[in-house]
Amino acid sequence: MGYILREKEEVIITEFVGPGPAAKHKHNSFVPDYIWQNEECGKIYDQTNGLITYIGDWHTHPDNLTDLSQLDINALCKISEHKEANCVNPIMLIMGNHKCTVVDVYQLLDYSKPMMIENFDFEGVNAKV
Ligand SMILES: [Zn+2]
Repeated sequence: MGYILREKEEVIITEFVGPGPAAKHKHNSFVPDYIWQNEECGKIYDQTNGLITYIGDWHTHPDNLTDLSQLDINALCKISEHKEANCVNPIMLIMGNHKCTVVDVYQLLDYSKPMMIENFDFEGVNAKV
């Protein structure tokens, strides 16, 4: 959740909505609790009078891999096409390694060709995630 300053080409992330109580977590797959997530996003949207909106998705990857998978690219395209999401250029934040100290942020700017817009490596920065 957050907002995008189009004139500055900046993405501001203000909130993270979690997976939800009915989410299904496995080593190589994840299915969120969509109903719970939609309700949480709606609450934040309403509480901020629409200032803070859904801007994309986030998840962790096993090991150190923060590259987008084909599933991730497909998800970005689906978000972009989903009219109710009202998010044509969604972002995807991926945290890698067992401590989640590597974070890459991608944005879908051209259809099916997401690009990395930020890369963080908090290893050795006393990150506690
Ligand atoms: Zn992924």
